[in-house]
This record gives sequence, structure tokens and C-alpha cells, in this order.
Amino acid sequence: MRLYLFRFGVIPGINAPVPGYLVQTEDGVNILIDTGAEPGGMVQVDPQDDPVARLAAVGVRPADVDFVVCSHLDPDHAGNHDRFPGAEFVVQRTHLAAARAGDVPRLLAAKEHWGAPGLRYREVDGDTELLPGIELIASGGHVPGHQSVLVRLPGTGPVLLAVDAIPNGMALDAAARPIFPFDTDEEQVRVSTAKLIDLAEREGALIVRGHDAEQWPTLRHAPEFYG
Ligand SMILES: [Zn+2]
Repeated sequence: MRLYLFRFGVIPGINAPVPGYLVQTEDGVNILIDTGAEPGGMVQVDPQDDPVARLAAVGVRPADVDFVVCSHLDPDHAGNHDRFPGAEFVVQRTHLAAARAGDVPRLLAAKEHWGAPGLRYREVDGDTELLPGIELIASGGHVPGHQSVLVRLPGTGPVLLAVDAIPNGMALDAAARPIFPFDTDEEQVRVSTAKLIDLAEREGALIVRGHDAEQWPTLRHAPEFYG
């Protein structure tokens, strides 16, 4: 199994990455985690950051993507869902319901992408094993039904893709961490932070933070991979 880390864009001003991830199983199943930001929005998307271009650089076409795991449907994570019409989209049931209902108004900004006609959604409830070695970890708070992903790699060991539940190094202490402007529920943010930190300690997992200008340069980026 392989894990690729992609930069799908940059947040101007703080130079933080907008990431996406690809897990490839030994059987050749491709699981894309998030699809990056739509061009023309708040995120700077250079030509090489285009998700389809990034995937092409590791030999994967959109039609090869079997699953898209949706951490959540913010515009910097769901801005290209409609370019993967053959994939099955895996989302927490509570999150999709909140997004469709407009409970978190900013999620509507990318609805033309995540709500495109014909996209197939698989709704899951809480912590769920997607495939052997790939676990979806419910981590709401940033938004209702946010999910993180634990990947168990044969050589590297476990890697926890925290996404926006732990966006940077200031957010590693559940009690002391700041609450960021786009977090919708402080109590749940702290509960989810504690859950993820406990899980990572138990598993000895590397925590990959969601938008961290300092951590990103220390990580291995596609076309290199964690195996
Ligand atoms: Zn984000």
C-alpha cells in the first residue's frame, strides 16, 4: 500500500498547503482523499497544483479513482468532486445532511462541485473501516461530521490524516488549542482533537496536519510516497 501527499493549492498570506491524498492498495484500488479547491476562489491554484495534473504525475487518471473520501465539503476540499464522476464518494451521513440542508452556509460555495448531478455518495456513520488498513475516523467540530483517515502502511506504519480537525501545530493540545474562524463547534473541536491525539499515541501514528506551512516541507510529497 502507498500513500501520496499532494499540494492542490496554497492559502495566500500564510503559505499553507491545501492538500489532498491518494492511497493505493496492493490490489490497485485508488482512494483519493479530498479534491482540492476550485480555481478562481480564495485558494491559489497553480497549474501544477491542479488535482488531475497531480494525479497524472503518478500515473492515475480520474477514471482510475475508485473512491473519493470526503473529509468534509468545504470549498478547499471539495472543489473538484465533479471531475471524478466515476468514483464513489464516501462521507459521514451527518455531514452530507448538514451540507445539503445549508446548515453551514459556506459549504454551499462548492455545491456545484460536490452536489453535481450523478455523483454517487456512500454515507457512513461514525468510525468506519473503508478497506483493510484504511479507517475513517469521525472528527466533527470544524464542521458537523468532519472525518479524518488512519492509513496503516506496511513500512511506514500508521499515518493519521487529521485534515481540518488538526490543521496545524497549534492544534495538538485539546484543551489549549485555539479555535479557528471556520470551526463551528468549540466543544466538539476539543473532543475530536483529544480523540485523534489519543488514537495517534496508541497507534504510534504520524499525524499529518491539514494546513500546516511548517510541517508540510518536512513531509514526503508526490511523486514520492510513503509505503
Ligand atoms: Zn481546509
